[in-house]
Amino acid sequence: MSPSFQPVTDFRPVLDRIAAEVAATPGRGRPADYIPLLAEADPGRFGMAVAELDGTVYGVGDWQQPFSAQSITKVFTLALVLSMDGGALWEGVGREPSGNPFNSLVQLEYENGIPRNPFINAGALVVTDRLQALTGDASGTLRDFLRAESGNPDLDFDERVAASESAHGDRNAALAHFMASYGNITGPVPDLLDQYFRQCSVEASCADLALAAGFLARHGIRADGSTLLTRSQAKQINAVMLTCGTYDAAGDFAYRVGLPGKSGVGGGIIAVVPGRCTLCVWSPGLDRRGNSVAGVAALDLFTTLTGLSVF
Ligand code: GLN
Repeated sequence: MSPSFQPVTDFRPVLDRIAAEVAATPGRGRPADYIPLLAEADPGRFGMAVAELDGTVYGVGDWQQPFSAQSITKVFTLALVLSMDGGALWEGVGREPSGNPFNSLVQLEYENGIPRNPFINAGALVVTDRLQALTGDASGTLRDFLRAESGNPDLDFDERVAASESAHGDRNAALAHFMASYGNITGPVPDLLDQYFRQCSVEASCADLALAAGFLARHGIRADGSTLLTRSQAKQINAVMLTCGTYDAAGDFAYRVGLPGKSGVGGGIIAVVPGRCTLCVWSPGLDRRGNSVAGVAALDLFTTLTGLSVF
């Protein structure tokens, strides 16, 4: 085999090159503005981290700067519920791409209050409802897990972001109440919304999130060597990330990046190279489908330069 087909193993020059190319590219999209506090983010910021399976981390740019994790947290709440409750979750949420925006209401009525997948807001609300029922403290359970996996004891919520989102949370409230009318939410909707907004407000850096996602590259094994998920469950989450993790842009993301990924409207994206490493990139400017413009471009370049891909 020609050496050019061997995957790159030294990530440092790759990250430097990506940062240089991103810096030279104008047009970074716009920060989310439907959550007023997120609108204040500077679209010029850019960071990227790669975590190897043993916890070694490489980073470039603002890779240690905490940002609003938002929907990236949906991967972790899904993993926690599956680890505690096996497959029961799938009675209340599907595994199909939605082809609709992340906060869309339209499919829910046609499909009897069962959201298409756990990564659109409706599906994530079901997941958080189940985690709340299982633990009595969904957001606290998530925070403890992220602290343990990232090794960062200071990782926390930003209560101001949670309050900002709550004050503008009519659409998520509508989704939750609508699903409750079908019996697909088990607890009180106001409590669920509190938990969900706190969950979304997690502040974490690229390093934190790349490390925290490591179990998805280690086939379900946590940072301390204990088992969170079976090998099959880890594969299943990666599959749902690939098909649904970037909403109605999942096809384009698979085409360009070729890795399971999950974005958030804070401008972060995590991605997984199973058996090899996890990545997190952050830049707050978004495209119209809610994915970081520079983030997708950086991941696209990463898989091009390294040859790492699930394909
Ligand atoms: N907290 C955001 C919301 O519910 C998360 C959306 C996202 O990151 N795509 O609208």
